[in-house]
Amino acid sequence: MDKKVIALIAHDNKKGEIVAWAQKNKDILKHYELCGTGHTSKMVAEATGLNVHSFLSGPLGGDQQIGAHVAEGKIDAIVFLCDPLTAQPHDPDVRALLRIAVVYDVPIGTNISTADCIINSLR
Ligand code: PGA
Repeated sequence: MDKKVIALIAHDNKKGEIVAWAQKNKDILKHYELCGTGHTSKMVAEATGLNVHSFLSGPLGGDQQIGAHVAEGKIDAIVFLCDPLTAQPHDPDVRALLRIAVVYDVPIGTNISTADCIINSLR
């Protein structure tokens, strides 16, 4: 059976959190295929040694690329640590990704607690 795919995205103020979360959960994450927006994927890959497929950076279309993969049934879960305290230039893309995840019933964790719930129940 193919590995399940998890997409990782973190806004700039949340990059430290997603890197720490990925390091903490490395032994679980190694059983999944990982992908993510440009900077997030590179930071997680560097910090964990895991292979993380890179899409474009979020503000340059990475969120939309991941959304398209959700629509095609190619993503099983998303960890999206968004920053609720800072305006994002690509806010329409952020909302579009949240929306398409709901449309396709793909679990999407927008904070660490939810990310933990998702990763501990995927299997
Ligand atoms: P980034 O994009 O990982 O390329 O920084 C994340 C985002 O802001 O959506």
